[in-house]
Amino acid sequence: MKTPIIVIGAGGAGIIAAWKAALSGAPVRLLEKNTRPGVKILISGGGKCNITHTGTIEEVLNAFSVGERRFLKPSVHRFSNADILELLRNEGISTYARPNGRVFPEHGTARDVMRALHSILERAGVEFRLQSRVERIIQKDRSIRGVVVNSEEIPTNHLIIATGGKSYPKTGTTGDGYAWAKELGHSIVPLRAALAPMAVMPALPREWQGIALRGCRLFAVAAGRRIASWDDDVLFTHEGVSGPAALEVSRSVAASLESDEVELFIDFFPDKEFATLDDDLNAYVQSQRQKTIGTLLDAWMPNRLVEWFLVRIGVSALTRGIVLSRDDRRAIAHALKEWSLGMVSDVPLERGEVTAGGVALREVDPRSMRSRIVRGLYLCGEVLDIAGPIGGYNLQAAFSTGFVAGESAAADWHAEVEAAQDD
Ligand SMILES: Cc1cc2nc3c(=O)[nH]c(=O)nc-3n(C[C@H](O)[C@H](O)[C@H](O)COP(=O)(O)OP(=O)(O)OC[C@H]3O[C@@H](n4cnc5c(N)ncnc54)[C@H](O)[C@@H]3O)c2cc1C
Repeated sequence: MKTPIIVIGAGGAGIIAAWKAALSGAPVRLLEKNTRPGVKILISGGGKCNITHTGTIEEVLNAFSVGERRFLKPSVHRFSNADILELLRNEGISTYARPNGRVFPEHGTARDVMRALHSILERAGVEFRLQSRVERIIQKDRSIRGVVVNSEEIPTNHLIIATGGKSYPKTGTTGDGYAWAKELGHSIVPLRAALAPMAVMPALPREWQGIALRGCRLFAVAAGRRIASWDDDVLFTHEGVSGPAALEVSRSVAASLESDEVELFIDFFPDKEFATLDDDLNAYVQSQRQKTIGTLLDAWMPNRLVEWFLVRIGVSALTRGIVLSRDDRRAIAHALKEWSLGMVSDVPLERGEVTAGGVALREVDPRSMRSRIVRGLYLCGEVLDIAGPIGGYNLQAAFSTGFVAGESAAADWHAEVEAAQDD
């Protein structure tokens, strides 16, 4: 019997996998528990969808850690950033790259991207089933035999798991793929938040909520060592810190928190060494000696922060430049380079834009996305132990691995059908 290829999860990885497999003529069924496909794509990039990152394939790969890069290399070569953009262009979605390399739809939003992906699925003949939560996977002697959906058993010999991560569970990603993969014999690298906001203690003053620090450096220190650092904007929230710099350091912070305490610091002037900054501060104070240091610092940081900043160092905001001592000035310069925000109390997994950890990469063939453990099983997208930085890299990883998973599942399906005909 010709059982269909089953794809679980209609996110970036599952959609591209189902489309690619169906183009070969194989019957493909895409099962999604939500009432609509691509919920995460719809909320990506603040609803604008940062589809991918511009640049060469090597540049895209270099954004990932060494192990992830090695794993992704064959699939990103097979289906690159240029390929996904061409696919969308053929569906009428033109795109543009921002100066930071992030690629977005030129006119539309994430909805238009989803509409385009939906129409390629339809044209390829993918059988799309929404509100279809897969409950269980059936295997026999380390070979896939079927899935159970809404208590109905669907036989299949070729199953693509594209169920995403475990963060943002309201979008459907509740980590089902990890549990199945584990049951099937795969190792799961421990899950952690990545690209997540961080809570700090003691709690930041309420008055800071909504303040954005532009172009600063956020760095994290654990056991006396700087474990992560990122230059970009930081946003103060009611719980702690968010914004691109916070999201980027969160993965390393979450990992270190398991064994150490982690303290966060801001460097307001990452491009200046302490000595230069101190000289600049001195020159600035000397040029306006009658002004108070509180007023002077208004030009160097958001004014809502100035008083807090100076209280922490023990310098009165009312001190006039003319009487500011050398020691106080150096203390200010020092704090501008290394201002403690407190200890990290939590990096919530459910708030991460991606989940770090997942199905161990060594157990999946990077050229085919075939499981090295179970026959007829393919894994792609965020369910794998891959978590890239902000910038369109995570969707690209989902598209590329999805493409290869769909291609290999289809090749295996056709080979099986041919073998059956020969018998
Ligand atoms: C707020 C936010 C913004 C983001 N912005 C960007 C961005 O701009 N650019 C970027 O590159 N990345 C972004 N990301 C990350 C990116 O969206 C994900 O890494 C990517 O979508 C992962 O794709 P995926 O196909 O592996 O998984 P998902 O897109 O998460 O898809 C998995 C699907 O599987 C379904 N599913 C799960 N379990 C079952 C089950 N048992 N039965 C049936 N279906 C099931 C889920 O409902 C879901 O639809 C963002 C993430 C978030 C949360």
